[in-house]
Amino acid sequence: MTDTDVAIIGGGQAGLAAAHVATARGLRAVVLDAADQPGGSWQHYYDSLTLFSPARHSALPGLPFPGDPDHYPARDEVIAYLGAYTARLDTPVEFGRRVTSVTTAGGHFAVGTDRGPAVTARAVVAATGEFGRPYRPALPGLDTFTGTVLHSSEYRRPEPFTGHRVVVVGAGNSAVQIAAELATVARVTIATRAPLRWQSQRILGRDFHWWLATTGLDTAGWAPGLIGRLIPVIDDGRYRAAIRAGRPDRRPLFTRLDQDVAHWPGHPAEHIDTVILATGYRPDLGYLRPAAALTAGGRPLHRGGVSTVVPGLGYVGLEKQRSFASATLRGVGRDAAYVLDRLHP
Ligand code: FAD
Repeated sequence: MTDTDVAIIGGGQAGLAAAHVATARGLRAVVLDAADQPGGSWQHYYDSLTLFSPARHSALPGLPFPGDPDHYPARDEVIAYLGAYTARLDTPVEFGRRVTSVTTAGGHFAVGTDRGPAVTARAVVAATGEFGRPYRPALPGLDTFTGTVLHSSEYRRPEPFTGHRVVVVGAGNSAVQIAAELATVARVTIATRAPLRWQSQRILGRDFHWWLATTGLDTAGWAPGLIGRLIPVIDDGRYRAAIRAGRPDRRPLFTRLDQDVAHWPGHPAEHIDTVILATGYRPDLGYLRPAAALTAGGRPLHRGGVSTVVPGLGYVGLEKQRSFASATLRGVGRDAAYVLDRLHP
């Protein structure tokens, strides 16, 4: 069993940024990741995924994103970048180690995995993202639906849905991107409770992320509720044009599903083949229950990523953890530095 200063759970971008910062602070660290290879959850995202932020605003600390700084990297470029970042780290990254429990005793943490006890440490950084815990809301009649129900985490490419009648539920970037892609091969409705909110990719000739960085909005420590309301769908014009053309069309959420039929406000009831829930995720932190670090619903009790109930425990990569950028490639480095400076391992 390894004894170290900081055990970092999760080797996606958030865990890698934490490892980089720990090494820079002169701390001994080890990263434990359940997957077999580097790349975090990017290796499970849909094939066509392209970053909404250009390369210059998509780097982790210490290694620029390769290629033209103004290009929008594809999913596989991100996987390759995270692989290169992992290989350059001075911190050991152990793959194939799923953490199942974190316990505390006498100022030390014991980290257990599915292959037995792994690490004792003076501090723990939880950086396991959300992909392992998709959120599936109880929509009216969904339990009676006889067609296919997928969460967006299970969606890869449009071809299997050719000719289908598909409803994508959700109002975020993934919902719009998946619905627009599917609408090239299927009849697709994007169903949202409220109208979609848009953010133009470019403003006065500059990418939106340049403005966020230049104005300081990207790092402003806003109230989480306000940050939540400010996350729009980023569009270079293509998605709004597609929705105006009705491919996909946008409607308020169906009132109910009844077996294979959707009942809509203001539209005739109709047969549906597939419902895709692009309804987001929740933090995947069940291994922290033995340390009593979570709410009953599994959410971390923290301020800015520092646990308010377990000294020495921190988080990196939580949505809205400290700022607009917290759960993004460009934001995790800043949050990792903030958290590690407050864990005092
Ligand atoms: P993950 O990438 O999920 O990595 C978590 C790691 O923890 C994984 O490697 C997993 O194997 C490991 N793990 C999980 N549980 C355990 C356990 N119990 N024990 C050990 N290891 C464990 N961000 C941007 O900056 N730009 C974008 O354009 C962008 N597009 C996105 C598009 C989609 C569809 C989604 C879903 C997200 C997007 N994001 C984007 C947001 C964010 O950058 C990604 O979600 C990113 O993958 C989050 O990184 P992470 O390290 O926090 O988590």
